[in-house]
Amino acid sequence: MTDGFQELRLDGVSRSFGGSDALADLDLTIRRGEFIALLGPSGCGKSTALNCLAGLLPLTRGSIWRDDTRLDTLPAERRGFGMVFQNYALFPHMTVRGNVAFGLRMRRLPRAEINRRTDEAIRLVRLDEHAAKLPGQLSGGQQQRVAIARAVVLEPSLVLMDEPLSNLDAMLRLEMRTEIRRLHQSLGLTTVYVTHDQEEALSMSDRLVVLRGGRVQQIGTPEQVHTQPANRHVAGFMGYRNILPMRLKEGSVVEGGGLTLRGTKVGEIAAGDAVEAAIRPEDIHLAAHPGEGIEVTTEVVEYQGREVAAEVRTPGGVLLHLRTDRALKPGDKAELVFDPDRLLIFPEGD
Ligand code: ATP
Repeated sequence: MTDGFQELRLDGVSRSFGGSDALADLDLTIRRGEFIALLGPSGCGKSTALNCLAGLLPLTRGSIWRDDTRLDTLPAERRGFGMVFQNYALFPHMTVRGNVAFGLRMRRLPRAEINRRTDEAIRLVRLDEHAAKLPGQLSGGQQQRVAIARAVVLEPSLVLMDEPLSNLDAMLRLEMRTEIRRLHQSLGLTTVYVTHDQEEALSMSDRLVVLRGGRVQQIGTPEQVHTQPANRHVAGFMGYRNILPMRLKEGSVVEGGGLTLRGTKVGEIAAGDAVEAAIRPEDIHLAAHPGEGIEVTTEVVEYQGREVAAEVRTPGGVLLHLRTDRALKPGDKAELVFDPDRLLIFPEGD
């Protein structure tokens, strides 16, 4: 990379529209070479954060720094960032080569350098055989690769990607995930990647920033966010499909809906407090022997290849989602065992 910065820092970055905060007090230090995912449901402020960083949206409060240089007062084109969006915005009348070389030409670089860097970028995204084609002659995934090549050819200090894969079909998305990750590794690109897809964020990023209602809920590695979600909202977003209103009995035992379960407390909770107990479908198991678990009746079963996803109900009326490799059918009785390390107990309504 041309730019030898160590870190990018967002200090209390906030943006409001008509008096309400779309993004509030985002503090984040992005280390050089890091892949950061901004994750959260629609409207949580991901694109606002990215656009603030890019310089497409002025901040309401806060500042952005590249080492000791203040960036938020600089216009977008002087920040030296590359951008890749979901609609690739390629020039339709230019070939792949023309599209990739465009930014270099605008910079009036020597022809030989333009040719060398363009060839290299096209090779990196594996489009050598398609270099002479027009965007209209390419698949969606190939077009997205052109958009990526066009951004990286300028050797930006930071690449910003806003849901770049959301227009692609499931197979291509998987392929492009690996592709982007590979590019990131081989070029050491510092990347900020916006997505609402938790799997995408978990599989691609070094760290995730989980947003909700414009506020950071948690910043951590994929493993931290996946196994130790900071609150029930992050848990819900990370696949803890069972979130049960219960009450803390004592220690780490909760009860409610006729169930008494042992779990792991997250945050300050006292005996008698209302809580929400969260567990993933894959962390509820079927008891190996009769009499060992909580009895349930199977209601709905979805075939998912090696496993089934089942909805079951306890005698107390609690509906639970689980996954199992046992061939459950609607009406079947089963007994469930919960892993206490995986049943997280959150204060209610945080
Ligand atoms: P999505 O995944 O749907 O793009 P997002 O997480 O990127 O969502 P933002 O686009 O950042 O969310 O929007 C955050 C909030 O700010 C939303 O409530 C949105 O309605 C509001 N907002 C965004 N841009 C504007 C704007 N130009 N004018 C008014 N409100 C806006």
